Amino acid sequence: MAILEVGLVSSRPSKRVDEPTAKELLSRFPHLADHACRQCGYGRFGDKIIGASLPHLCEHLAIDLLVSEQLAVGSRQLVAGNTVWLDKGQRLAKVRLRLSAELLENAESAICQAVETINELMGRSWGSDDQSGVA
Ligand SMILES: [Zn+2]
Repeated sequence: MAILEVGLVSSRPSKRVDEPTAKELLSRFPHLADHACRQCGYGRFGDKIIGASLPHLCEHLAIDLLVSEQLAVGSRQLVAGNTVWLDKGQRLAKVRLRLSAELLENAESAICQAVETINELMGRSWGSDDQSGVA
C-alpha cells in the first residue's frame, strides 16, 4: 500500500456542491453515488454529495477516476481516501489517498483531472487566479 497526500488551497472554502452540480457530476460519473463515505458517519457519497466541500469532492472524483481506469483494464484494486481541513480558516485541505503502489503513478494525474472537472463545473473556486488547484 502507498499513501499520497495532496494539499489543496481554496479561496472560497465555504463553497459546497449544490444540487444542479451534483446532478451533473452523477451523470458524468455514475459510480460516484456508490462510493463508501465516512464523512459525517458511514454511508454512500451519493447521499452526501450535495453540500460536500470541494476538497472532499476532489477526493471522491480522483478515486472514481483511478478505479475506472483499473476496471477498464480488468483490474480491481481498492482505493480509499479521506479529506481534512488543515488550517483554522479552512483555506488549506489535505486529501489523502491510500492505494496500491502501482496506482500511485496515476494518482497525481487523477487529482489534477478531478480539480479540472470541479473548476469546469463550479468556476475557479480553488483560489485566486495565481493560486489554484493542486498545491
Ligand atoms: Zn467521503
